[in-house]
Amino acid sequence: MRRNEAELAKMRRAGKVVAEMHEATRAAAKPGVTTLELDQVARDVLERRGATSNFLGYHGFPAVICTSPNSMIVHGIPGGYVLEEGDILSIDCGAIIEGYHGDAAFTMGIGSISKEAQKLLDVTERSLWAGIDQLTRGNALNEVGRAVQAVAEAAGFSVVREYVGHAIGTAMHEQPQVPNYWPGTRGPTLKTGNVFAVEPMVNVGSPETLMLDDGWSVVTADGSLSAHFEHTIAVTPDGPEVFTVP
Ligand code: MG
Ligand code: MG
Repeated sequence: MRRNEAELAKMRRAGKVVAEMHEATRAAAKPGVTTLELDQVARDVLERRGATSNFLGYHGFPAVICTSPNSMIVHGIPGGYVLEEGDILSIDCGAIIEGYHGDAAFTMGIGSISKEAQKLLDVTERSLWAGIDQLTRGNALNEVGRAVQAVAEAAGFSVVREYVGHAIGTAMHEQPQVPNYWPGTRGPTLKTGNVFAVEPMVNVGSPETLMLDDGWSVVTADGSLSAHFEHTIAVTPDGPEVFTVP
């Protein structure tokens, strides 16, 4: 799907709201705070900005953010989990403005974290930006995954296969998917006005995943730490434009 200027303007606004949710939840995420409290912080941002949630009610999801600590990869439900010094926490946020979606995630340390955890965060974020750099007109979409995978694996980490990025616009999850690895095919050729959510999930150990009994929380099968970084990005004549930044 190619979005016109008016549509891109709305997605830019949705992206700013998501960036503000990031800032607010990052500031609130401290030892002793529950993930449910972070959800409330994010709800307050949505309300203040006149935005609605694309997460709340999505296949019955009960919150406006996903909170995934430590070995949880994605889709954690905010609740009674109390953050501890040394945790890492992935926070995924989304917003809708006038029917147009933004979606972005980051992983942060709670207080001081281990060297390995910090390396995981740095590498995963770097892999996201390597993927974003591939979002140029005329390039093949699956070059994104090739670039993400190269950065993650060069650091000795692995890339999750079962969960991937996606096109985004009037729905949060649109086709085509954006793998975080080279899938063996080039995928569609990128055009101006295409918008994608690129979202590497990187594990310290093996790439295998497990779903917990709540039907949402995805964890590493080997219990190793996992990080998740995501932005919503448009392909423009001047290169990639990241919407989910302040
Ligand atoms: Mg997301
Ligand atoms: Mg996404």
